Amino acid sequence: MTKPAVFLDRDGTVIEERGYLDRMELLELFPWTADALRLLKRAGYTLVVVTNQSAIARGIIDEPFLGQVHHELSTRLARGGAAIDRYYYCPHLVDAPLERYRQTCRCRKPGPGMIEQACQELGLDPARSFMIGDRWLDVACGVGAGTRAIRVLTGHGPAEPAEPPVNANANAILDNLMEAAGWILRNSPR
Ligand SMILES: [Mg+2]
Ligand SMILES: [Zn+2]
Repeated sequence: MTKPAVFLDRDGTVIEERGYLDRMELLELFPWTADALRLLKRAGYTLVVVTNQSAIARGIIDEPFLGQVHHELSTRLARGGAAIDRYYYCPHLVDAPLERYRQTCRCRKPGPGMIEQACQELGLDPARSFMIGDRWLDVACGVGAGTRAIRVLTGHGPAEPAEPPVNANANAILDNLMEAAGWILRNSPR
């Protein structure tokens, strides 16, 4: 586990928050998304999306559709010279309508499971890594997995409580993903 990574919440952080994204027309990147991710990649960070997708457990979308959304997201990022290295998602819910997704899992944020799995599979070092998300549960996920964490004020960001929950203190609270990328670059070892 040696490489640094930036773990990214998807909805409200990388793309516009649209509730359950169940139609491709709802997919919209922020104007700065590709630039921000390109900067982080150039600085040597592996880029990993970690996203709760209870819409799957609820039967609103299925896993093939989620795959299409991520393929389309990657296609649009590529046009801006950026790329996500890997997507991780949690399809579970404790009280899921669909039985095969009904479980108490370690991967649903604020659980650290997706970051832990990514670190193991991709050889990433959480201590050198960052988590960026618009909600305190994203911060908690990063803190729980041993990364530093930044909360952004896009998506649900402005509606979140002012005070962090226990064990979810952010290293920074910033306007958006581009500001977060700049903060990471300034706080990276040379
Ligand atoms: Mg979010
Ligand atoms: Zn899960």
